[in-house]
Amino acid sequence: MRGQTTSDSPLPAQRERGEGCSASRQKTPSKAPEVTPKPGNYLHTMSTLLSDLTSRDPHRIWSATSAVTTLRDPVQLDLLAAQLPEIRAQTAGIDLGGALLPNSERLKFVLHKLEYWRDRTGCLCRLYPDWLQFDPNREAKAGNIRILETNLYERTYTCECALCGTRYTVEEGEYHYTWWKWQPVD
Ligand SMILES: [Zn+2]
Repeated sequence: MRGQTTSDSPLPAQRERGEGCSASRQKTPSKAPEVTPKPGNYLHTMSTLLSDLTSRDPHRIWSATSAVTTLRDPVQLDLLAAQLPEIRAQTAGIDLGGALLPNSERLKFVLHKLEYWRDRTGCLCRLYPDWLQFDPNREAKAGNIRILETNLYERTYTCECALCGTRYTVEEGEYHYTWWKWQPVD
């Protein structure tokens, strides 16, 4: 959103020695991640998320943490996880507001998620119990889980992770906002 020229559309037949140089020709902040990012949208989205997370602007941090909460893209997660110390440092001590569900809780979850991802701890579904706002319908729509059973009266679901097969019972409730409590079925 800065005043960058966005008009240099990549024409395939143009001189292309040093792929990806067009970005570095501009005044890119020298803090850019050391990982070699893939070209195209990945880089754009990822650098947006990273620059939002490290912007020290509460609204931008909030919007980026919302995106990262449900983010599943391994490339982007790798790149963000590699910047964890920087993200931690730049978000420390910022008042993120949020009356009923403090936004700092979401940030805390995002840091936890990136750490979990970095350490290759396991399937991302294992994080569902750690955050109250994983809507099973949304997760099913995204292809992350299958809903095996829905009980409308008790507002419960039985779900199965589409990747690792772990099953969960999910309780839906309301306390100023809708929440979902996920529990793995052993
Ligand atoms: Zn899973």
